[in-house]
Amino acid sequence: MTLADPRLAASTHGPFTPSVFHVVGRAQEAPDVVTLALESAEGRPLPFKPGQFNMLTAFGVGEVPISISSRPGHGPLMHTIREVGAVTRALCRAALGSPLGVRGPFGTDWGLDDFAQSDAVVVAGGIGLAPLRGAVQALLDRAGLPMGPRRVVVLVGARTPDQLIFKRDLEDWSRRGQVAVTVDMAEEGWEGNVGVVTHLVDQAAFDPNRAMALVCGPEVMMRFAIQALIERGVLPTSIRLRVSLERNMQCGTGLCGHCQLGPYILCKSGPVVTYPQASRLLTEAEL
Ligand SMILES: Cc1cc2nc3c(=O)[nH]c(=O)nc-3n(C[C@H](O)[C@H](O)[C@H](O)COP(=O)(O)OP(=O)(O)OC[C@H]3O[C@@H](n4cnc5c(N)ncnc54)[C@H](O)[C@@H]3O)c2cc1C
Repeated sequence: MTLADPRLAASTHGPFTPSVFHVVGRAQEAPDVVTLALESAEGRPLPFKPGQFNMLTAFGVGEVPISISSRPGHGPLMHTIREVGAVTRALCRAALGSPLGVRGPFGTDWGLDDFAQSDAVVVAGGIGLAPLRGAVQALLDRAGLPMGPRRVVVLVGARTPDQLIFKRDLEDWSRRGQVAVTVDMAEEGWEGNVGVVTHLVDQAAFDPNRAMALVCGPEVMMRFAIQALIERGVLPTSIRLRVSLERNMQCGTGLCGHCQLGPYILCKSGPVVTYPQASRLLTEAEL
């Protein structure tokens, strides 16, 4: 019996034992970014909330934290992964049918139940759209309902057009909500916006008094996006952000302490935090 054998996972329990999932779909989002669709080898779907993450194991290589990029209750479990090192390379190259380990879900979620009658403003940079994808889908599904937002605004920035992920989703979302995309550097054939995502915040149509904002991306982008939101009049307490892309998370359960930053154990009190919780971290530490 190998570590990837579903019988092993079925015979053991505990927060540190990965469940075996199989790759049932792959999509190349950008040259170095792949979305994997996973299904449980034991036929047990994983309940989760948008914003949470899993620890994914490439057997024989290692385990890394990766956000869930699908929405709950709709088909396979999805993760969108940028290849930066040994483990992410093995995950991005996992072939259809291969087994991977999944532990989770861990961490805080975007808290979408607080978005009733709000203007939901989602600001994402680069791969930061991955942890927001399930939230956008859920918000659009609820838009106009009593417990849903009044409107959904999605503002996305990428370095170059070929680094834009979820292009088909962006088209779909633009038919159901307000979507604006910008790139730092245009390439031939690009007819859209050029410039930083913060300019989109200045131009977007939303009521700052009703706005609830979700922000995820590189630290510098989050810093400027939040500043632009606050200058538009959005309350700091109405801004949630996803920190810790570069934090070292290992156990996911708050035990090992590798992801401690000041008073926070980020795998438990994060990765989604409110701006007041994060403001000290944003000014004092690399996230
Ligand atoms: C809560 C959480 C959620 C995450 N969600 C996602 C996700 O949805 N998609 C995704 O692609 N990644 C995500 N990450 C980051 C991912 O976990 C790392 O990229 C991964 O651990 C790198 O492991 P590796 O063995 O491939 O590379 P390593 O060998 O650990 O790193 C290779 C090189 O890349 C650098 N590096 C590592 N991670 C990053 C990073 N995030 N950004 C920039 N440089 C980095 C290292 O410093 C090193 O130089 C998340 C991280 C956390 C903590």
